Amino acid sequence: MQIIKNASEMQKISRELKDKGKRIAVVPTMGYLHEGHLSLVRHAQELADIVIATIFVNPKQFGPNEDFDQYPRDFNRDNSLLESIGCDYIFYPDVSDIYPLSYATEINMSGVANVLEGESRPGHFNGVALVVLKLFNITKADVSIFGQKDFQQTLVIKQLVRDFNLDIQVIIYPIVREPYGLAMSSRNRYLSEVEREKSSIIFVALDEAKKAVAKGERRRKMINSVILTTLRQVPELKIDYVYTAKAENLEITDEFLPGEEIVMLIAVWMGRTRLIDNSMTKIPITLNDNNFIEGI
Ligand code: AMP
Repeated sequence: MQIIKNASEMQKISRELKDKGKRIAVVPTMGYLHEGHLSLVRHAQELADIVIATIFVNPKQFGPNEDFDQYPRDFNRDNSLLESIGCDYIFYPDVSDIYPLSYATEINMSGVANVLEGESRPGHFNGVALVVLKLFNITKADVSIFGQKDFQQTLVIKQLVRDFNLDIQVIIYPIVREPYGLAMSSRNRYLSEVEREKSSIIFVALDEAKKAVAKGERRRKMINSVILTTLRQVPELKIDYVYTAKAENLEITDEFLPGEEIVMLIAVWMGRTRLIDNSMTKIPITLNDNNFIEGI
C-alpha cells in the first residue's frame, strides 16, 4: 500500500493506472476508521482493480461552532487498518494542498441539500460536494462507495454527479452497526459506555417504525410518532429531527403509497455528541377488501 500526500502526485498515479486499463474505486473518508469504513473498502475491492481510500477532515464541511478541531484523528491506526485489508493507496493530503491560499471556487447546492442536515448544519453539503468533486477529479475513479449511514449525503452526491455530468458510478453500502444496534461512527468515541448503550434506542426506534409500516402504517405523522415515542424513553437524548420521506428525493407526503420506498431519518444529541441514523423500508403492497392489489 502506498500513502500519497500530494494531489498532483495522486493524479499522476491515477492517470498511469487508467492508461494501463485499471478500474479505480475511491472511498472518501475523514479517517478514524471503523468497521463501517473498512466494509466500504472491501466492497470497493470487489468492484475495481485498484482501491484508493482518502483520508481528509474537510474544514469546509464543518460549521464555525462544530467539532473540526476535536474531530478524532489517528493516521497510524488508519494506515495499519487499511494495510491489513489490502487497500492499494491512501490519499492523505494536507488542508493547504486541497485548499491553497489562492483557492477561490465554491459550490452552492440547493434542492435535497437544503433540508435536514442542510438546515441543521448550514453550508455542510456545499463543503461535502466540493471536496468530493475534487477527490473524484484527483483520483479519476470509475466508481465511488458511500455509506447509507449518511443517507442525505448519498442523495447530494448523486445530485452532484448528475448536475456536473461526472463520469463516475456511485455505490451505496448498507449501515454497519455495533452488536447492540448503534450505527458505527467515528464520533461514537465521544460517548461514554453508558451513553453508547442508551443511544442504541435510536436503532430500536427505527426498528419499531419499520414494524409499524410492515403492519400497514402509511401515514407519515404516525410513523414519526412511533419513532418519537420510542426515542423519548431515553430522556438524555435531545431530538434534532425525526423525518420520514420518500427515499428517492426526501419528498414528504401525508400518506405514502403501496410499493413506495421510504426512509426514516433521525438526528439526536447525546450530551455534546450529535448522532444520525436512518432506515429504509418499502410500503407493503397489500390486498384490500376486494382482493385487488393496491398501488398497481
Ligand atoms: P466519514 O469518515 O464519517 O466521512 O465517513 C466516510 C464514509 O463512510 C461515508 O460514506 C460514510 O457514510 C461511511 N460510513 C460511516 N459510518 C458508516 C457505517 N456505520 N456503516 C457504513 N458506512 C459508514
